[in-house]
Amino acid sequence: MAPISLGNRAAAATLKARNIEPPGGNATPRPPIRMTLRAEKGTTLSGLLRNAGIPRAEAETAIAAMRKFFDPRRIKPGQIVTLTFDVTGGTRNDTLAPGKFKGLTLPTDYARQVTVARKGDGTFAAKMIDRPYIRSLVRSEGQIRQSLYLAGTRAGVPLSVLSELIRAYSWDVDFQRDIRPGDGFEVLFEQIRDDAGKTVNTGKIVYAALKLSGEKRAIYFHKTRDGEVGYFNEKGGSARKALLRTPINGARLSSRFGKRRHPILGYTKMHRGVDFAAPRGTPIYAAGNGTVDYAGRKGGYGIYARIRHNGRYNTAYAHMKGLARGIRKGTRVRQGQTIGYVGSTGRSTGPHLHYEILQAGRQVNPLRVKMPSGRKLKGAELTHFQALRGDIDRKFASLAPETTVASAEN
Ligand SMILES: [Zn+2]
Repeated sequence: MAPISLGNRAAAATLKARNIEPPGGNATPRPPIRMTLRAEKGTTLSGLLRNAGIPRAEAETAIAAMRKFFDPRRIKPGQIVTLTFDVTGGTRNDTLAPGKFKGLTLPTDYARQVTVARKGDGTFAAKMIDRPYIRSLVRSEGQIRQSLYLAGTRAGVPLSVLSELIRAYSWDVDFQRDIRPGDGFEVLFEQIRDDAGKTVNTGKIVYAALKLSGEKRAIYFHKTRDGEVGYFNEKGGSARKALLRTPINGARLSSRFGKRRHPILGYTKMHRGVDFAAPRGTPIYAAGNGTVDYAGRKGGYGIYARIRHNGRYNTAYAHMKGLARGIRKGTRVRQGQTIGYVGSTGRSTGPHLHYEILQAGRQVNPLRVKMPSGRKLKGAELTHFQALRGDIDRKFASLAPETTVASAEN
């Protein structure tokens, strides 16, 4: 924390101000003094204003006015607040001092800021105004030697873009298995800079492609006219699939589908699902939209649920600690809805999710099965998408790949 000075505006200003802009000349009316302050850890907006010498009642009225646009409790360390004051003191710049508090400005994100200004009657009024920013597209690409994550980091792809990329492909690509040396990626993403040229945010991925074993899988960001936002492949098929391969977050694949020595029974047995080790209580998601057709105890499976997605596919979840509230036979569920929690019930050696995909009643390998696809664009929507895709392809081809400093992958 910086030293705090109460009551003395000049002292407060020298202690905390990054920058004070004195007005030029001595013309009347004199332009206000602007004081730029930076919020520190533990700073409240009210504290910040009071440290600048603003009387409590004025500070509280100004803050109350901004509340409908910005919750002052959301102020973060490093956030810049600009205060404006009338000028008091002599006519020479070195004798000027901040006078009556006139208002403040606070950026709420890269695109907007809230301003609060004192009105003639002494009350304060707030409004939101746009901030200037520059949106540009960045092309990045690289060879994948070990993992997409390492390759992306090495190519300078921001972490937020990289995780979005991994999420967008997670319907289709098993990142623990499908990536081979020699594979590659391309990505075109938005970058947002403020008017000083500083990168303030990364926007969405506009286009990406993975080259896996010589096969290129491209996806394009698209918003349909009925409002669905997502990634679509070259043919207009949604990258989002009808079923999740991994219906759990942050889990480690601990046992694959296929023959294995059973950890409890000791003999070799077919493992008809995949196991994800995760802490007890981790939420388990419905892999797709459907109807619960079994929910309860089921022998060695322990607490078990099965969802019927359509005539062809079912998914099953075993060894749960318990079912989520409201999950019973006949419950309709949506993709991503929590249906239960990781446990170790039934024939199990530790907390994990045993997950099965059943195709026409038979278990298939969730990591290998060709997923039923989600939405496919048709008609005018498809024509519109294809035109947009052409624009994106041309844009990508016209940009030079971002130059990056090579560093060792490890
Ligand atoms: Zn299992």
